[in-house]
Amino acid sequence: MKHDPEKKPTAINSSDVSSNDVEADNAFEVLRQARLAAATKPFKARGVSVQRCLRCQLKMHQCLCQWRLTANSPVDFILILHRKEVLKPTNTGRLIADTFPKHTYVFEWNRTEPPVALLQLLQSPERDCRLIFPKTDMDNTAESSPMNNSNIGHKKRTTLVILDGSWREAKKMYAKSPWLKSVPLLDIGESIKQHQASNQYTLRQAPKEQQLSTVEAMILAIHALEHHNTAEVLHDYYDVFHSLYSALRSNTQPNVTAAHARIRKRQASLVTEN
Ligand SMILES: [Zn+2]
Repeated sequence: MKHDPEKKPTAINSSDVSSNDVEADNAFEVLRQARLAAATKPFKARGVSVQRCLRCQLKMHQCLCQWRLTANSPVDFILILHRKEVLKPTNTGRLIADTFPKHTYVFEWNRTEPPVALLQLLQSPERDCRLIFPKTDMDNTAESSPMNNSNIGHKKRTTLVILDGSWREAKKMYAKSPWLKSVPLLDIGESIKQHQASNQYTLRQAPKEQQLSTVEAMILAIHALEHHNTAEVLHDYYDVFHSLYSALRSNTQPNVTAAHARIRKRQASLVTEN
């Protein structure tokens, strides 16, 4: 593919989004760009005709990219995406890949042919994989998987697996994926209660497991494993995403929150370290 950096546009209309203008620097981007490249029609982000950033799909002058900060994580992540999520600007699973690019694996869900690499990860003896899925709905669909969080993380690499789609889609994906049934569940119910009680965070949605966004469920799962600093790094990035996205929707200025200040502080300390 020809690539001429001199001619590379910094901003284009959402109707012109093409696949080869942004570096695919994490697994989500690789999948998203493959999808854009395969599209017969140019991808059109819904609604407004604002100039969007090619990478984060937010408004050019209020873009998320400047707040992106990559971090190490004591656990790994596997996102299994419903196909509709890959190009959706509101998708929040991608925030996990943005923040922990070295630790995040991303796959598009396929009912009949699960990707071999995904099955290998799920079955790897080196990993302790846990699926984040509301237990209330498991009764009918799951075999009695252990729900114990306490013996996680010894010797094996803890790997959090999440189905990234609307609740309805995720439920369907789970039901139609026999290969997922052997992955034990991680219970985040207690984590939800704790965060409600401490009021430490304002969760964006009603805190029922089914209604959490992908990234919120992941933040609570990381807290459940007591990696609170790691959870906070992701939470701050999500906070900024949320404030920028709400501003885009309502055509207002984004709120500046404490998360913005914490991210700037982390970015500054990285500069000093280097
Ligand atoms: Zn951006």
